[in-house]
Amino acid sequence: MPGALLIGDAAGLLNVPKIKGTHQAMRSGMMAAEHIAAHGKPEGWDAKLRASVVMKELKKVRNFKPGFKKGRLFGLINSGWETIAAGLSPWTLKVSADYSSLQKLDVAEKPNRDYVERTLPPRDRLAGVYFAATEHDEDQPVHLRVSDTDICITTCATEYGNPCTRFCPAGVYEIVKDDNGPRLQINAANCVHCKTCDIKDPYQIIDWVTPEGGAGPNYQNL
Ligand code: SF4
Repeated sequence: MPGALLIGDAAGLLNVPKIKGTHQAMRSGMMAAEHIAAHGKPEGWDAKLRASVVMKELKKVRNFKPGFKKGRLFGLINSGWETIAAGLSPWTLKVSADYSSLQKLDVAEKPNRDYVERTLPPRDRLAGVYFAATEHDEDQPVHLRVSDTDICITTCATEYGNPCTRFCPAGVYEIVKDDNGPRLQINAANCVHCKTCDIKDPYQIIDWVTPEGGAGPNYQNL
C-alpha cells in the first residue's frame, strides 16, 4: 500500500490467548516512527516488522485461534498443547475463507424461527441505521463494487438465496423487482462499513473499498 504503514490492530497484532494487543500497538508504533525517521519512506517496513520481537511473540500463539475453527473441544485441547509447546509446534494451522462456511439452500437445515419477537427499539435494521447516523456525500465515488450483478439474480438467487440481503446489518443490498425483472439495488448511503459483504459473499464479487473522507456512521452517537 504506497505511503502507508500498518501497525497495531490494523496489522492483526493481537495476542489472542492474552486478549491483549495494546503493547504490540505501542511497540509497532514506536518501531514505525523509528523506521520513518531513519529512512523517510515506508518501504522496508513489512520486512522490519516481520523480523521484530513483535512477530517473535505472535509466532508462539499463531495456532490458538485457528484451533477453535475445528470446534470448541479441539480448540481447548489444542490450546493446552500450544501452551506446553510454547509455539514450537512444527505446524501452522490454516483457516479456510469465511465465505466457504456458507451452505447452499438445498443442503442447509431450515432455520428455527420460534424465538420471541423483541419489543424494545431498535426493532429492525433500518431503525439501527437511523441510530448509526450514517453520512455519505451523495457524489462520492462508489465504495461498494459488485463486479457481476447478473450472478446476484441468477446463480446466487437459486444456490444461496441472496445472503447479502440478510447478513448486511444495514439493509444495503436489496433484490427489487421492476418491469425488467429482478435486479440488485445497493443502498450505499446506509452502509456502516462492517465489511461483512466483502468477506462473506460466496462468489467473492463484492469489493468493499474505503469510503471517501471518513464517511459512514457517527460512532460518537452510537
Ligand atoms: S460493509 Fe457492512 S454495512 Fe456496508 S454494505 Fe457491506 S455488509 Fe452492509
